[in-house]
Amino acid sequence: MKIENVIIIGSGPAAHTAAIYAGRSELKPLMFEGMMAGNIAAGGQLTTTTEIENFPGFPDGIGGSELMDQMRKQAIKCGARIETKTVTMIDLKSKPFKVIAEKDSVETKTIIIATGATAKRLGIVNEDKFWQKGISACAVCDGALPLFRNKVLGIIGGGDTACEEALHLTKYASKVLMFVRRDVLRASKTMQDRVLNNDKIKMIWETHVAEAMGEQFLTSLKTKHAKTSKEDKMEVSGLFYAVGHEPNTDFLDGQIEIDEAGYIMTKPGTTQTNVSGVFACGDVQDKIYRQAITAAGSGCMAATEADHYLKEDV
Ligand code: FAD
Ligand code: NAP
Repeated sequence: MKIENVIIIGSGPAAHTAAIYAGRSELKPLMFEGMMAGNIAAGGQLTTTTEIENFPGFPDGIGGSELMDQMRKQAIKCGARIETKTVTMIDLKSKPFKVIAEKDSVETKTIIIATGATAKRLGIVNEDKFWQKGISACAVCDGALPLFRNKVLGIIGGGDTACEEALHLTKYASKVLMFVRRDVLRASKTMQDRVLNNDKIKMIWETHVAEAMGEQFLTSLKTKHAKTSKEDKMEVSGLFYAVGHEPNTDFLDGQIEIDEAGYIMTKPGTTQTNVSGVFACGDVQDKIYRQAITAAGSGCMAATEADHYLKEDV
């Protein structure tokens, strides 16, 4: 049976960058790009958004799906083979490792995990209707869009991400309403202080957002008090979710060390997991930056480290 040098699992910027580097190192990488894995099309999270304005090299912006199509083409041109299958299981008990994708079982010397993370949604009324038409899961990505400029914007969540993104939104919004379901923030003290001392941010404590309203674009929200259930209506032109992400790690079945939030743990400054020969890159191991460019950068690291491992350790 043929043994692959490297199997890349995933299809976002991390996976494709890893494929480009592994291909150019003549490792003939095999990528399983997923078939609606985690309910996201092959290409990853960027296929769910419109314009990307912060990926270097595109001064006029580029569509998320178009950027991922270009990365895919480049990976193939550099020698990657791509299969549109979702990996359901891996077996790391002995070497070579086994990767099971639907009915295929493939043996490999190294694995690069780049399965990303999925932003949690809340399932409020009309969420699908206004998704990317006022509702977004990424304030850093979408906050600067013209439709949000000088408008009242809302953010849901009370963690570090919500605080960081609320502060980011103050650059563009006339006012930021921060909807927190409890009467305390989960975020670190420093982040709490910054948010609570910012005049542009108004805290809406103990409040759930229940419904999004508007015609073509979001214009207002129906809210519900967490204790009294009293309903209210608030005018907002944008709503950002910051209620956590779920890394796509179910298929690992406990064979790789993950942290309490489910992110793969890597040795600081590297993409090495606790299993030698298995590397992780992109959002599946990054709960802080979660950007296309940082995912791509760590994809380069993973392929380079896999190449070194194959030369030195096998
Ligand atoms: P992801 O993009 O998360 O892709 C991983 C993909 O791998 C999955 O989506 C799935 O298709 C596949 N997969 C998962 N599990 C399996 C499996 N078991 N087998 C096979 N395949 C699998 N970042 C920016 O820099 N700029 C922006 O403007 C920007 N806008 C964004 C807008 C939105 C709405 C969202 C949600 C995110 C945005 N981001 C943006 C963040 C950016 O998309 C992510 O940081 C980046 O895509 C992470 O890349 P990744 O390679 O880790 O994986
Ligand atoms: P998080 O810490 O899990 O916080 C999620 C927030 O969303 C919590 O406040 C939670 O409320 C709220 N929430 C969850 N489900 C909700 C729902 N259904 N309705 C309303 N609110 C809901 O996630 P995170 O903020 O993304 O942070 C993840 C990790 O990354 C943390 O360890 C964080 O410290 C780290 N991080 C660090 C930085 C930094 O250091 N600058 C920046 C970003 C992230 P409850 O509090 O009530 O549970």
